[in-house]
Amino acid sequence: MPEGPEMVFLKEQAEQFLGQPVMRAEGSARGFPFDRLKNQELTSIQTFGKELLFCFPGFAVRVHLLLFGKYAINGKLNRELRLGLAFDNGEINFYACGCRFMQEPLESLYDWSTDVLHASFDTDKALEKLCRKPNRIIGEALLDQTILAGVGNGIKNEVLFRNRIHPESLVGEIPEPEVRRLIAACTSFSFEYLDWIREGRAEEHWLVYKRKECPRDHIPLLKAKIGKWGRSSYFCEKCQQLFLPDG
Ligand SMILES: [Zn+2]
Repeated sequence: MPEGPEMVFLKEQAEQFLGQPVMRAEGSARGFPFDRLKNQELTSIQTFGKELLFCFPGFAVRVHLLLFGKYAINGKLNRELRLGLAFDNGEINFYACGCRFMQEPLESLYDWSTDVLHASFDTDKALEKLCRKPNRIIGEALLDQTILAGVGNGIKNEVLFRNRIHPESLVGEIPEPEVRRLIAACTSFSFEYLDWIREGRAEEHWLVYKRKECPRDHIPLLKAKIGKWGRSSYFCEKCQQLFLPDG
């Protein structure tokens, strides 16, 4: 699943269509008012976490790539087109994605202070929200999009490893300064990750995600499905501390 930095990169790729009217909108997205887009000018593109928002006068189109979504810019993939937008200077096509036509003002729908890649991201607010559920496993809490929008499984695994915290630690048992550091790392790592994507070398930088050996201890990493979403965790039992209640 694409994480926040991948969506920002996609936004940057799509910015070539800014200021252009939609020549053609088509696809199989059920109940989607494709006709409403015709001749409308794309005025801005925004991201919120793992969502991409195409903004037009009076409405916006939300695209979420979900687990298996794909896209092609100025090209087509051999699969069912969910949403395709053609402009004078090219086209962008989405597959296996969720799309929604939205007429509500975006400010009433989104709280950008929870988006780790947004300038208004609020660390204190994230800390307060995380600490409100002290019995939650940290490896699950970091994926909560209402707290840290844009953090996905890769970022979660890397940030926990780099900060030496075991994914099954309980939020309330981790010293607060360390939780704060973890939140700050979600932001700084997401920006680093975005730079690596721009360079086309993102995967080279994963230390534990989809890896087999701990780069610090040179012992096998453990892989387990942790938390209610059952996302894969990669971690080292030796150098990542497990914070649990005493006894
Ligand atoms: Zn280790």
